[in-house]
Amino acid sequence: MSAYTEHETIQVLIVGAGIGGLTLANICKRLGLRYLVLERSAAVTPVGAGISLAPNCLRVLDQLGFLPEIEREGQRLRKIRIFRNTTQWNMLDFDSTEKTFGYPVYKIERHAFHSALYRVAGEEHVLLGAQVVDVVDDAEKKLVTVTLADGREISGQIVVGADGIRSATRRALAKRGGETIINSTIRFTGRTHMSGYTAPLEHLGPEEEGVGTWMLYDDSIFTTWPCKDKRQWFIGVQAIVIASGFKGRGPLSLEKRQQGHDQWSVW
Ligand SMILES: Cc1cc2nc3c(=O)[nH]c(=O)nc-3n(C[C@H](O)[C@H](O)[C@H](O)COP(=O)(O)OP(=O)(O)OC[C@H]3O[C@@H](n4cnc5c(N)ncnc54)[C@H](O)[C@@H]3O)c2cc1C
Repeated sequence: MSAYTEHETIQVLIVGAGIGGLTLANICKRLGLRYLVLERSAAVTPVGAGISLAPNCLRVLDQLGFLPEIEREGQRLRKIRIFRNTTQWNMLDFDSTEKTFGYPVYKIERHAFHSALYRVAGEEHVLLGAQVVDVVDDAEKKLVTVTLADGREISGQIVVGADGIRSATRRALAKRGGETIINSTIRFTGRTHMSGYTAPLEHLGPEEEGVGTWMLYDDSIFTTWPCKDKRQWFIGVQAIVIASGFKGRGPLSLEKRQQGHDQWSVW
C-alpha cells in the first residue's frame, strides 16, 4: 500500500506502473530521489505471456541489480528456427550476441519480470487506483500538478508519462501545446493476435533448450519463444476474414493506397 502523504514533495511523479514506469522508479530509487508512481489499476495482477529482454535493456537492468534474478527466472535465447510453411528455411544464431553487444537475449515470463520491478521499486511508492486525467505545469511554483479521475491533485517537480500507447499524459501535454488530441497512435492493421504460455513441454531435449521457432505461413505467422522449465511463450498473428455484411472501418488495400485513396475505408 502506498505510504504517500500530501505533505511530502515528490521529485519525480511517474504516470503508469508498467514496465517503463517501474523501471524509471527503480532508477529514481538508485539515485536517491523521492518518487511516486500513479497507476490506474486497482492491483498489479499477472497479465501477459512472455517478454524479450534484449542486450540494450539488460545493460540497464544489470546496473539496477536485476540480472541475477533474470538469469534465474528467464531463459537465454540461443537460436531461432525459421520455417516457411513446413520447410525449415533458416536458423538465426544468438550465441554471438553477448560477444557483440555485451549481453545475451533473455526470455522471461512478463509477470515475473513486472512483479520484480514492482517489488524492488517498493509498493509504498506506487499509488494504485490513481487514474491521471490532467497534467498542469506551473512554471512560477516550479511544480507540475496531476489531477486524478476522483478529483485528487498531486504535485511533483517533474512528471513522466509512462502510461502506455493511449497515454493520457501525452494527450494533456498536446492539449496545452495547442495540438489536436492525438488519437492516431493505434491503427487497425487488419490482423488479429493471440498469445499464451505453455505448460512444461517434457518431450523437449537439451538440444531444444533456448531454441525458438518462427513459422511463416501464407496467411499467418506463429512464433514460439523458449522460457524457463521447458515452457514456451507463443504469439500467433493472422489477417482477419471479414464476415459478409460486416460494416466497419479498416485499412485499404495497397492498390487503393497507391491510387491516392485515404488510408481507411468503410466496408
Ligand atoms: C496488460 C499488458 C500485457 C502485455 N503482455 C505482453 C506480453 O505478453 N509480451 C510482450 O512482449 N509484451 C506485452 N505487453 C507489452 C509490453 O509489456 C509493453 O508494451 C512494454 O513493456 C511497454 O511498457 P510501458 O511501460 O511503456 O507501457 P504499458 O505496459 O502499456 O504500461 C502502461 C501503464 O500505465 C497505466 N496507465 C495507463 N493510463 C493511465 C492513466 N491515465 N493514469 C494512470 N495509469 C495509467 C496502465 O494501466 C499500465 O499499467 C503487455 C502490455 C500490457 C499493458
